[in-house]
Amino acid sequence: MSDDKRVFEGRIKVPYKHTAGAYVEKFLTEIGQNRKIMGVKCPKCKKVFVPPKMVCFECFEKMEEWVEVGNQGTLKGFTVVTHKTDVMPLKPPFAYGIIRLDGADTDIVHLIKESDPNKLKAGMRVEASFYAKPRKRILDIEYFKPI
Ligand SMILES: [Zn+2]
Repeated sequence: MSDDKRVFEGRIKVPYKHTAGAYVEKFLTEIGQNRKIMGVKCPKCKKVFVPPKMVCFECFEKMEEWVEVGNQGTLKGFTVVTHKTDVMPLKPPFAYGIIRLDGADTDIVHLIKESDPNKLKAGMRVEASFYAKPRKRILDIEYFKPI
């Protein structure tokens, strides 16, 4: 074996498209058009999944019952962002939070807007703030804010 292997670096551009799928499509449409956050309920264990999944992670049952969950929930944990980069959706300081919406049995991760991050506490209540012009993106919930 020779040690003089050459390594060439390159970059391949691969254009692609993908669809959100029927469940995420409905989820984003309800958020954008009706300002409702929807989940699906497992017929066996009765857990409500947000965002919606087709199959229960625990029972492997197909889930088809849509239920509206609250626009408010509980902040279970968070991390504060203080340094700015070009890709950030909000101006620091802000936080990424783990949120359990009222009526849901799963958590979502989303932005938490609070100008004074010292006021954030695990267990506090937060509420969704919807983007004025829906674009069928998860950021149609622009952020959550403490209530
Ligand atoms: Zn289940």
